[in-house]
Amino acid sequence: MKPRVGIPRALLYYNYYPMWKEFFERLGAEIVLSELTNKKILDDGVNCSVDDACLPIKLFHGHVIDLKDRVDFLFIPRLISVQRSEYICPKFCGLPDMVVSLVNDLPTVIDVTVNMRNNNSSLRKAVLDAGRYITGDVVRIYSAYKSSLQKLHEFQRKMEEGLTPLEAMHGGKPSSFKEGIKIGLIGHPYNIYDNYASMDIIRKIRGRGIGIITQDMIRESEIDRIAKTFPKAMFWSFGKKIMAASEYLIDEKKVEGIIYMVAFGCGLDALVGDLVERRVRKKGVPFCLITIDEHTGEAGIDTRVEAFLDMLEWRNASKCW
Ligand code: SF4
Repeated sequence: MKPRVGIPRALLYYNYYPMWKEFFERLGAEIVLSELTNKKILDDGVNCSVDDACLPIKLFHGHVIDLKDRVDFLFIPRLISVQRSEYICPKFCGLPDMVVSLVNDLPTVIDVTVNMRNNNSSLRKAVLDAGRYITGDVVRIYSAYKSSLQKLHEFQRKMEEGLTPLEAMHGGKPSSFKEGIKIGLIGHPYNIYDNYASMDIIRKIRGRGIGIITQDMIRESEIDRIAKTFPKAMFWSFGKKIMAASEYLIDEKKVEGIIYMVAFGCGLDALVGDLVERRVRKKGVPFCLITIDEHTGEAGIDTRVEAFLDMLEWRNASKCW
């Protein structure tokens, strides 16, 4: 029987799932996913997490609870840095420890450390360590890794063509909004692409015939080009991407307005959100900050988003006179 590796549909699932899937499947494992986020997952996550954790971390715990009795292994990497000279949020660094201390009766946790701040050698070690949970064949592990990198690049290319991560994973087609209003929807991928946490914001906006561009739909080379123009280097990888994406969308006149979706209690978003808002408003572009947590009511979000979209449509129509 194939070993079953559980991957929670939360946090960096939206950035790396096709890569992780390819890697473990090439080694002969079966991938088991948690259910799509739902009320039970949210409630389980909220009940077992520490109070001051952000919503995405609480949801991650709920997804672990959903999965833990159905798998032999749980994949929870310890991510410190995923790009040279940069870091990601410290919560990712302590994630396996948090989960192990808060959730009972876990299967074996594949907890490997990725820290690419200085070089890529930690990634090679992490790949080897993760693969060894499934097989002792080092050549097979490296070959699976090579193939998984290809999958990651294909996945990223699809998103740059205008697909969301879920559409890229499931063979969707880019929506065609060649004319009319487009908005930039930015924020951590697990906030904007998790349909339950985001109150299905992407579907609602597209449902009005309005196009969406997210930070993942912008070429990495553009993000890097803009990030180099910042007065100071932004050392948080996600913060850099969010800031650079908003600048790109405005400077290149790709969108009529920006919606930034943040999680309540997120230290990184508190800082980056303020920086983005100042820069966007200075350039005279409408900006809307949406904060989500476990108490967020859908009606409140809908009202704000609809008012923002009405205003953009009104501005657009006024330009035609
Ligand atoms: S970056 Fe913010 S939202 Fe994401 S895990 Fe860290 S604290 Fe939570």
